[in-house]
Amino acid sequence: MMNNKVIKVSNFIDGQWDDYNENTITNVNPATLEHVSTVNIAAEADVQRAVESSKIAFKEWSSFPPPKRGEILYKIAEELKKRKQELSELMTLEMGKVITESEGEVQEAIDMAYYMGGEGRRLTGEVVPSELPNKMAMAVREPLGVIGAISAFNFPIAVPSWKIFPSLIIGNTVVWKPSPNTSATAAAFVKCMVDAGLPKGVINLIVGGDGDVGHTLVTHPDISLVSFTGSTHIGQKVYQSCASNHKQVSLELGGKNGIIVLEDADLPLAARAIAWGAFGTTGQRCTSTSRVIVQKSVLEELTPLLLKEVSLLKIGNGIDHEVNVGPLINSEAIKRVEDYVALAKKEGIEIHCGGNKIGEEGYFFEPTVIGPVSPSSKYATEEIFGPILSIISVDTFEEAIEVNNSVDYGLSSAIFTRDLSKAMKAVRRVDTGIVYINHSTSGAEIQMPFGGTKNTGNGKREAGQAALDTFCEWKTIYIDYSGDLQRAQIDVDFS
Ligand code: NAD
Repeated sequence: MMNNKVIKVSNFIDGQWDDYNENTITNVNPATLEHVSTVNIAAEADVQRAVESSKIAFKEWSSFPPPKRGEILYKIAEELKKRKQELSELMTLEMGKVITESEGEVQEAIDMAYYMGGEGRRLTGEVVPSELPNKMAMAVREPLGVIGAISAFNFPIAVPSWKIFPSLIIGNTVVWKPSPNTSATAAAFVKCMVDAGLPKGVINLIVGGDGDVGHTLVTHPDISLVSFTGSTHIGQKVYQSCASNHKQVSLELGGKNGIIVLEDADLPLAARAIAWGAFGTTGQRCTSTSRVIVQKSVLEELTPLLLKEVSLLKIGNGIDHEVNVGPLINSEAIKRVEDYVALAKKEGIEIHCGGNKIGEEGYFFEPTVIGPVSPSSKYATEEIFGPILSIISVDTFEEAIEVNNSVDYGLSSAIFTRDLSKAMKAVRRVDTGIVYINHSTSGAEIQMPFGGTKNTGNGKREAGQAALDTFCEWKTIYIDYSGDLQRAQIDVDFS
């Protein structure tokens, strides 16, 4: 385990760590309130320097053959593998995620580095027939330029890896602004990339800043595409700024994910999956299960099974391998969940378990199950981003689908049933970007597209092959070797 020395974090710009200054924020371990890191607060001028450095580096990096860029991604994967334990412990120390999940998160970045490294020898384009003789039509992927990557606190390594590695393999360079809460983890991740041989300026890191610095990055004229992961509220601001600056944008925002449990479901399995989906990462995943939509005929049987599973969860400092549920990120998060519980009590909604902050040391809150609640209530429609699960009771399959789709978000859904026909009908009709059969709403794999519909995003995807489309520009090439002036549509005889 790491020793408890306070980590000092500064920007990484143009291949160098900035000199540390006294303009700082302090991050504490949310489990113990011990001082973990002191982080310099980036200024607008730092964003300018970082973008300038990435712009210069783009010229050389984008001209490297993609297999050579892929070799560097393989080396990054090796470096991450070597430091997996160190990075995981730092993540747990800084944002509270339990250590097994932190290890899984670093593994996700390793997988993404290998996957995108492999794309260096693939990066497929298109060659299609022309409508004219002696003419070819093809399309190739071109890099966009400098990518502005902005990330949330809850996945401080995996989600940035979905932005950075596809960007790099295509030949873009990146300026990354992580959440101020996870700056030390971000710096350690960048150090792995640099030690693996990523050339100067290809990645630049801006730390400590929040809205002002984020806005400067988003509106910078030399940023070609903004890749933003965070709340829907901030994402909408980013979207507006990008629209008025005619900039491309990829948005990965909030969720209000539901699990449908039909009357023929394997209820013990559903109960286990719901408990994991709702209380893993203390409910602070974009894919956290926040609503259980249960057919009334099995509500009475499912509820005790679920409560039993929740009672088995061990809450505590995530550095302990036995712990299942760590703390929330900060005191504002505690206040937010307390407010929902207070409202539920006021409205006479049954609190089946939990509902209270735990102890004075650390930001711990009991896993909480409430309901039944109305599908249109605040608990059932707003992203809580904490350990509160709402139960909604429905009569029919049709009603379950309708309730599932009734929220403004569209990230992930799940259905528990033994009926393949119903499962497949549900899969086609739920309006989320991701859907699971007989599993919880969480558990993304890096080789598949990740993203959501409605207020969760803007139609882009940030993993799998789809990520290559998000971070590239398509260039269409026509080659006419007829020796004549052949006009498309006009000189074509389809009569
Ligand atoms: P947040 O919106 O508060 O912050 C996200 C990032 O935006 C941070 O780096 C922050 O400093 C920056 N920021 C703040 N104001 C800005 C501005 N005006 N312009 C540009 N950047 C700005 O989110 P958070 O609390 O860190 O994370 C939780 C949220 O992220 C939840 O809503 C969660 O659902 C969402 N999330 C979504 C996904 C996904 O893939 N869909 C993944 C992880 C988290």
